[in-house]
Amino acid sequence: MSTPSAPVPRAALADVPAYVAGRPAAAVPGRPSYKLSSNENPFPPPAAVVEAVREAAERVNRYPDMGNTAVYDALSARLGQPTERLAAATGSVALLYHLVQAFCEAGDEVVFAWRSFEAYPIAAAVNGARSVQVPVTADGRHDLPAMAAAVGERTKVVLVCTPNNPTGPAVTRAELEAFLAEVPPHVVVVVDEAYREFVRGPEAFDALDLLEDRPNLVVMRTLAKAFGLAGLRVGYLVAHEPVAAAVRACALPFGVSAVAQAATVAALGAEAELLERVERVVAERTRVVDTLREQGWHLPEAQGNFVWLALGEDTPRFATACEEAGVTVRPYATDGVRVTVGEPEANDVFLRVAGEFDPKV
Ligand SMILES: *Cc1c(COP(=O)(O)O)cnc(C)c1O
Repeated sequence: MSTPSAPVPRAALADVPAYVAGRPAAAVPGRPSYKLSSNENPFPPPAAVVEAVREAAERVNRYPDMGNTAVYDALSARLGQPTERLAAATGSVALLYHLVQAFCEAGDEVVFAWRSFEAYPIAAAVNGARSVQVPVTADGRHDLPAMAAAVGERTKVVLVCTPNNPTGPAVTRAELEAFLAEVPPHVVVVVDEAYREFVRGPEAFDALDLLEDRPNLVVMRTLAKAFGLAGLRVGYLVAHEPVAAAVRACALPFGVSAVAQAATVAALGAEAELLERVERVVAERTRVVDTLREQGWHLPEAQGNFVWLALGEDTPRFATACEEAGVTVRPYATDGVRVTVGEPEANDVFLRVAGEFDPKV
C-alpha cells in the first residue's frame, strides 16, 4: 500500500453536504434592507438579557462553568425534569452532532423527512452515518408511517422536525404517539422542537409529556428562535438519563460560553416578555399567510416563524426579486423559498414582491 504524500481526511467527509447559511441583508444605499433568511427573532434581546451578557463579559478571562450548572438548574426548575436528563451544547445543531456520534457506528442510518432541516444530513455524514430521507407529503407534512417503515436493521436515530423547517406544518400528538409505538425501543427518536413556541391550535402540545415511559425519546429545543439568542449558540435536550449522559459525554468541554450560560438563565427568567413577542410574530404570520392566500398562493400550514412557497424552477427568480426589493430570503435549489416572518416593514416588502410575482404556486 502506498503512503499518501499529504494528510487524508476520513472518506466519509467527502459526503458531507455544505451548510448553506441564510444570506445577510444586501445593503443598498437609500433603501432599508431586511434579513428574512435565517428564521431569526426580529426583536433585540430584553434588557435583562443584555445586562447579564454585559456582566458575564467582565469575566471572560475565566473558563465557563463546565457543568452548565446554572443553566441546568434553571431548565430543571422550568421543565420539571431532573438535571440528569438534560444536555446543553452550542446550539441544537451541536447536540445533533453529539447525538449521532454517540449512537451511530460508521454505516448506521439516521432517518428523517426531506425536505427538512439541512443540518440533519450534515450531522449524519460527519459521523460516517447514512442519511435515509423520507419525502414529506405534498402539503409539506412528515409522512410518519413511511418514516416508521424506513426504520431498518441499521437505523439508530430518527429525527422528527416539528414544525418542519422549511415547509412549516407540525405533527400532532396522536401522530407522534402512533409513530413512537411503531419504532423499536433501541432506536433514538429526536423530536426537534426548535419552533415549538410558535405552534397554535390543536397541533400545540408538549412532547415532554410523552417522555416518561419512553426511554428512547429525545426532546430537543433551542434558545435561538423564540428566546432570541441565535448569536450565542445554546440548545438543550431532555431525555432519559442514559441517553442524556451519552450526549454529554460527546460534548466539547467548556462548549457553552459563560456569556451564553448567563444569557440563557436571564432569557429563561424573561420568558413572559419573550413569549409576548412570539405572540406578535404569530400575529404577523397570520397576516402574511392570509395576504399570500388572498394573492392566490397555495402554501402549507405555517406553524413556525416562517412561510414556505414551493416555487420549483422559479425559486431563484423569486429570491432575486425579493433581494432586489430589499429582503433576503432563503432559496432551496429548485424546491422553494422559505421566508422568515420578521418585522412588519420587512414582511410588507416581501408581500409586495409576492403579490407582483407570476406565476404563483
Ligand atoms: C433553527 C433550528 C434549530 C436551532 O439550531 P441552533 O443550533 O440551536 O441554532 C434546530 N432545529 C431546527 C429545525 C431549526 O430550524
